[in-house]
Amino acid sequence: MAEVPSANSPYPPSYYAASRNIIRDTQKLEGEVTADICVVGAGYSGMSTAIHLAEQGLKVVVVEAAEVGWGASGRNGGQVVNGLNASLATIGRRYGEKTANFVGGLVQEGAGIIYDWVARYGIDCDLKRGNIYAAYTEQHMRDLEAKKTLWQSHGMDDHELLDREAVRKHIGSDVYAGGMIDHSGGHMHPLNLVLGEARAFEGLGGVIYEHSPVTRVGQSADSAVVETSGGRVTAKTVVVCGNAYLGNVVPELTSRVMPVSTQMMATAPLGKERAEALLPTGMCVEDVRYILDYFRISGDYRLIFGGGVVYGGTDPADVVAKLRPNMEKVFPQLKGERIDFAWSGNFALSFSRVPQMGRLGNRIYFAHGYSGHGVTGSHLFGRILAEAIQGNTKRFDTFAALPWIPFPGGRLFRAQYSTVGSWWYELKDRLGL
Ligand SMILES: Cc1cc2nc3c(=O)[nH]c(=O)nc-3n(C[C@H](O)[C@H](O)[C@H](O)COP(=O)(O)OP(=O)(O)OC[C@H]3O[C@@H](n4cnc5c(N)ncnc54)[C@H](O)[C@@H]3O)c2cc1C
Repeated sequence: MAEVPSANSPYPPSYYAASRNIIRDTQKLEGEVTADICVVGAGYSGMSTAIHLAEQGLKVVVVEAAEVGWGASGRNGGQVVNGLNASLATIGRRYGEKTANFVGGLVQEGAGIIYDWVARYGIDCDLKRGNIYAAYTEQHMRDLEAKKTLWQSHGMDDHELLDREAVRKHIGSDVYAGGMIDHSGGHMHPLNLVLGEARAFEGLGGVIYEHSPVTRVGQSADSAVVETSGGRVTAKTVVVCGNAYLGNVVPELTSRVMPVSTQMMATAPLGKERAEALLPTGMCVEDVRYILDYFRISGDYRLIFGGGVVYGGTDPADVVAKLRPNMEKVFPQLKGERIDFAWSGNFALSFSRVPQMGRLGNRIYFAHGYSGHGVTGSHLFGRILAEAIQGNTKRFDTFAALPWIPFPGGRLFRAQYSTVGSWWYELKDRLGL
C-alpha cells in the first residue's frame, strides 16, 4: 500500500532534507482552535492557498501530518516546468477549444507566483532560470515544434528549438536528437522553497501545526471541522491538500487519483568544472518520453537525477540500481560515480492527467492530481482556490466543472491496470514511436 504520513514520519533520506536551510521549531495541534480557513497539508498546494489567503488578512491555520514539505513538495526534481501534465492539444481534444484557451491563458502563472515569492519573501532556494525538453527522435522534435507553435498561439513566446548540435551546447551528452528551451521555466531546491513559503506564511500571521495527522474532515451548515488525535480546528472553510499522501481520510477523494512513486538520487559533489561539463548553461532537463528522465545540477554541483514510476506508490527495493543505468546512458562519463542520496516520493496521478480542484458540500475545497508536473500547477491552484474562497469563483468553476474519470480497477486493482497501460507507452518509447 502507498505510504501515508504519521506524526513521527521523518523526512526521507534525500539530498534536500540533508541540505535544508531552515530547521523548524514545530508545534502540534492540541485542543480547540478556531480560524477562518483551515488547510490540510503543508506542501505547495497547501502553502500557496494559505499564503494567498493570509495576504488578504484572513486567519489561516495549516495542519500537517508530518513536517512542512514532507510530501512531494520537499522531494521533487525541482523543475519549474510550465503547463499541466496533459498538453494543451490534449486538453483541446478532450474538453474543447474554449477550455484549452482558458488553460493556455494561465499556464505560466504558477511559475510567476514562485518567482514573485522568492523575490518578495527572500526565499533562499538556489533558483535558476530555463528548462530544456530533450528529444530522442525526429518524431519527438516534430512534437516539440508543434508544441512551440501551439504555445505561441496562446501568447507564449519563450521557447527556443535546438537541433542536435545546439542541444549539445546545453547538455554534455550525445544521446539527444535535439530539444527545446523554455526560458520562462527554471529549477530550484524544492524543500527550501516550501520551507521559505512556510516562513513567509508565518510572517503574515499564519499558524502551522505539524506532527498532527488529520483523521477526519467534516462540515455542518455553518462550519467545517478538522480533527486530529489531539485537537480540532473549527473554521468557516477547509481546504484539503493531502494529494498523493491523503490515503482514505476523505473517502470522496480516494478514487479520483492514484499515488505513483518516482525515484531520485544525487551524486557526490562533482565540482564546478565537471558539473558544468554536464550542463554547461545550468538549465534543468527532462526528456519527452512517457517514462522520462529528469535532471539538473544542485547548488553544490551534484547531479540530481530522477525517473521511473511505480504505480500504486510503493518504493522499489533499490533506487540506485534502478536509476544508475539510466544516468550512465545519458552521461557515460559518470560511470561508477558515487551516489550520496537516493529516495522516492509519491505524486498523485489523475486518469486524464489534468489536475483537479473542487468542492465537497459548501465548505470543503480540494486540489490534487498534478500527475507528476505539479510544481507550478500547485502554486496556481492554490491561488485559484483562494480566489474562490473569497467569492471570485470564475476560474475555480471552470476547473471544477471538468469531468473526471475514476481509475479502472478500483482502489485494489487500479495500480495493476495502469502498469499494463504504461507498458504500451514504454514500448512506444523504446521503439521511438
Ligand atoms: C520524486 C518526485 C519528483 C517530482 N518532480 C517534479 C518536478 O521536477 N517538477 C514538477 O513540476 N513536479 C514534480 N513532481 C510533482 C510535484 O512535486 C507535486 O505535484 C507537488 O509537489 C504537489 O504538491 P502538493 O502540495 O499538492 O502535495 P504534497 O507536496 O505531497 O503535500 C501533501 C501534504 O499533505 C500532507 N498530508 C497528507 N495526509 C495528511 C493528513 N491526513 N493530515 C495532515 N496532513 C496530511 C502530507 O504529509 C504532505 O506534506 C515530482 C514529484 C515527486 C514525488
